[in-house]
Amino acid sequence: MDRHGQEEWNVSFETKCQGMDLSIQDQYHAISFPIYQSATFSHRCLGESGGYDYTRQSNPTRQQLESVVAHLENGREALAFASGMAAISTLMELFQPGDHIIVDADLYGGSVRLFDVISKKNGLEISVSDLSMEPLEPLIRENTKAVYLETPTNPMMHVADIAALSATIGDRNIFLIVDNTFLSPYFQTPLDLGADIVVHSGTKFLCGHHDTIGGFLVLNDETTAERLRYLTTTIGNAMAPFDSWLMLRGIRTLAVRMNRAEKNAFAIAEYLKKCPYVSNVIYPGLEDHPGHEIMKKQTRGFGAMISFEVPSSAFAASVLKNVELFYFAESLGGTETLITYPITQTHAEVPEELREKNGISDRLLRLSVGIEGVSDLIDELKRVFRLAAEESGMNAEDNCSENGN
Ligand code: PLP
Repeated sequence: MDRHGQEEWNVSFETKCQGMDLSIQDQYHAISFPIYQSATFSHRCLGESGGYDYTRQSNPTRQQLESVVAHLENGREALAFASGMAAISTLMELFQPGDHIIVDADLYGGSVRLFDVISKKNGLEISVSDLSMEPLEPLIRENTKAVYLETPTNPMMHVADIAALSATIGDRNIFLIVDNTFLSPYFQTPLDLGADIVVHSGTKFLCGHHDTIGGFLVLNDETTAERLRYLTTTIGNAMAPFDSWLMLRGIRTLAVRMNRAEKNAFAIAEYLKKCPYVSNVIYPGLEDHPGHEIMKKQTRGFGAMISFEVPSSAFAASVLKNVELFYFAESLGGTETLITYPITQTHAEVPEELREKNGISDRLLRLSVGIEGVSDLIDELKRVFRLAAEESGMNAEDNCSENGN
């Protein structure tokens, strides 16, 4: 039972964000679920546990969070981990040496490193393919056990059709795994589209405040969830109670944050499109984005991540040096706008050849748009572009601000 008085939370997403699972104990009915900051739990007598034994295994605060996240993703089970990478690494432990995994060509750099360095060392066969473009069927082998992707991808915003991939897999025993970090369940619920497992870096939009690291796996299959719980208990990488509480608090405002950040992102993308210094604005909300139509079909919005190219690496360096309102930092999904240089930050670990193939150049910048006043954000872009133009000896009169933006 939950505080909506029903097993299924048949309420809007916004209301689910305020949800509480009353089957998870809190004897005083606190509105902010308590932080059970305890490593262990006592037993009244032999064979009589209060439901919790040891926090590596389970903890009420973490369990409350897992229940809320499962409801947000329309899944039956969720597991919370110490980081997004902890979630993905644990997921990879489901597989045996000799198993084959198909991974998308454009992924967060840490995921690429995990597959390249650890999964291969553990005997998994990894094939890399652009799942937004290339047909899946010819890639599937006898020993294929999973297809792993992000949509939209980080940082090139390729969009894959989740329902079509699921239809191709059909009833074969292959997990379709979707990293839903970029859109959050507010905009996209991959399990509804046929995915088997949803991955999150909870560090990003779910947390929303750049103050906690965490990760999630969400799924419907209880047997696989049980196996994953066994693995996380064994590995010891579940989310800590205090971090779980911070995540719960962040989630309360998820819907309003996503809504506002997306509005800002639209305005910025439109501004960038008109800016003469910017050559390639990659935002799936723009009609000319190749994945726009698929997004319209499978998501409820376009998110707050924008990638774009500037004329040179010197121009990019100047932008990064001169930002004041934006933070030059890796990560995404918080209330403040971050500007990231994928080539040296989030995607530094991606092999150069793959980076080049994907278009991750030294001219590419990525914005995680926050919830600030949009005119301040656009003024910041105008200011840094003007400075960058001057510093790289370009004609600053070309500045977009003079073009009526
Ligand atoms: N997935 C995506 C799309 C990410 O952007 C990141 C981190 O940036 C991760 C997974 C890894 O998450 P974490 O940093 O929480 O370990």
